[in-house]
Amino acid sequence: MADPDVIVIGSGGGGGVIAKELGEAGLQVLVLEAGPWYGNSQWPEPNAERGGRQSADPADLNIHLLRAQYDKREEEMNDLIAGKLRWGPADRGRAPWFRNFKQRGFAWQNSGVGGTTQSYFANSPRAIPSTIDGIWPVSYRELIPYYEKVECTLPVAFAPTTAKEELFYYGARKAGWQLNPTLDVTVPGYRPQPNAILPPNPDLMNPKYSMERLSWMEGCTLAGHCVNGCPHGPSVDKVAKRSTLVSYVPLALSTGRVAIRPNAFAVRILTETHPAEGLRAVGVRVRNTWTGETEELRAAAVVMAAGAIESPRLWLNSGLPDNPWVGRGLANHYIDWVTGMFDERELLSILGSPEIDPFVGHTSGGRLDYPGLGSVMVSGISPGLTASMSFGISEAGYAGTERRGRIVGPELQHWMEQYRRTLSLAILTDDEVDCRNGISVDPVLKDEHGPVPIVNYVPTRRSVEKREKLAAIAVDLLRRAGAKKVHRADWPAALMIHMESTMRMGFVVDDHGEAYQTKRLFIADNSVHYNGIGGANPTLTTQALATRTAERLAAKYVR
Ligand SMILES: Cc1cc2nc3c(=O)[nH]c(=O)nc-3n(C[C@H](O)[C@H](O)[C@H](O)COP(=O)(O)OP(=O)(O)OC[C@H]3O[C@@H](n4cnc5c(N)ncnc54)[C@H](O)[C@@H]3O)c2cc1C
Ligand code: SF4
Repeated sequence: MADPDVIVIGSGGGGGVIAKELGEAGLQVLVLEAGPWYGNSQWPEPNAERGGRQSADPADLNIHLLRAQYDKREEEMNDLIAGKLRWGPADRGRAPWFRNFKQRGFAWQNSGVGGTTQSYFANSPRAIPSTIDGIWPVSYRELIPYYEKVECTLPVAFAPTTAKEELFYYGARKAGWQLNPTLDVTVPGYRPQPNAILPPNPDLMNPKYSMERLSWMEGCTLAGHCVNGCPHGPSVDKVAKRSTLVSYVPLALSTGRVAIRPNAFAVRILTETHPAEGLRAVGVRVRNTWTGETEELRAAAVVMAAGAIESPRLWLNSGLPDNPWVGRGLANHYIDWVTGMFDERELLSILGSPEIDPFVGHTSGGRLDYPGLGSVMVSGISPGLTASMSFGISEAGYAGTERRGRIVGPELQHWMEQYRRTLSLAILTDDEVDCRNGISVDPVLKDEHGPVPIVNYVPTRRSVEKREKLAAIAVDLLRRAGAKKVHRADWPAALMIHMESTMRMGFVVDDHGEAYQTKRLFIADNSVHYNGIGGANPTLTTQALATRTAERLAAKYVR
């Protein structure tokens, strides 16, 4: 595409959405994506060879390639250094991209077309209304039509109940919580998780169909492994877990106006001073991650959708105007992880089966929301990830009799032997925005894309208190469900999975997503959230806002 109307930087949770919406609005869109493209026949060996330059044709999408590339081996997919879904260049001969953490932790992100939605659990709840109304520059009511559009496009559906959700609901009811069967959360309650996952195939229990055959058909197979990148479906655009790779990206290509270039890292926003508009974005300097070549591309508008760490980094490395809120106010849902172990007899009486089998079904199919505190979610992941998430990652050091911290040796062996009888709950805290938390750039350390980001996150006293209260709720729920032992991981605060709110609406961008200080520069990723939306998983809100921003951008700058 020689002369795009809009350049979008990043193709993840927000970038994929705004590209499709702008294409449908009649604009020519070029998406620059730093990582590889899986499931596209222009890149048959995406981690070993450079492949093509860009793709604009839905016919390039190939389910056989996607299935070969998205295998189910946890290590091959999720290893942070060498996994296919790592944060780094496509070229496996090269190291991941570095970021400087000031405290223990890491950022769990993916590069590549689809961004971090390749790994995400696909949980798609709306924001808690009380964290939007009277606080954000837009109201919850104004967001509803955009939520509805995204929910319909992905699509989002309430998760089916497998054994782990049944046990979770049982415990929630026994602990006195009420069912909330709606999408709006105004009072505490539990509910099935709204997930961007296709409903189960209607023939799932039909003995005439093998699992292999079902996995080539439309619909979820409840086979688990969503976090490793779901490969199940008859074609790329019908894959069960609706990462943007398989939902918005195919729709964007179908407009005939969107081209996506993987292996293309944006290193600078180009600007000029216009007599009427003042400082405005006019293009992007981009670096090919295979060859190291750079080029300058121009467009009428630029959208940053590089994520909550890279968007502020790009702003700062581009020398855009000073703004004390650029990179500031990082929220992370101050996450923790609690696991219960159940015995056979108890399970038989509740589930009619001696095992929970946490790997079966959606990775997370049920939640309990508590406005003002956050959320507690069922989280059933495969054994290797469970060993890390439940027992291997902790701020508290090694667990003693406290049942909190890292577990090793015979105790770890015992928990993992009982893996099929465990239920894990993730805690997502409604953490406070604090301007001392955030992203800055390192004055000394640089990589090939400029000064590296420094990530700083220390929860406030109130956030710590809220997490403690949620952990107590999770422990109580597991105990009421009959857990014989309960273990709390106590994750390090800076283990970042839900990074948001580093380029806040009302401080860095206006309520249309346009930067106050640089006209024609828009932001459409998690970074524009004003706050942590109450502990609701962030992506649906980013996608709703990206849909709205596309509408505003097209109305203002369409040629
Ligand atoms: C294990 C896991 C589970 C999760 N589960 C959920 C869930 O169930 N529900 C939920 O709501 N959220 C979940 N999340 C979080 C979710 O993935 C993010 O909220 C979402 O992907 C953020 O969208 P984004 O557009 O801000 O960033 P990303 O999706 O990270 O997209 C940014 C993209 O920009 C590219 N990029 C970055 N810098 C540049 C550059 N300079 N030039 C070109 N390209 C660039 C990146 O390669 C990436 O593809 C989960 C995350 C993880 C890790
Ligand atoms: S359970 Fe997850 S991995 Fe399995 S088909 Fe459904 S969405 Fe895909």
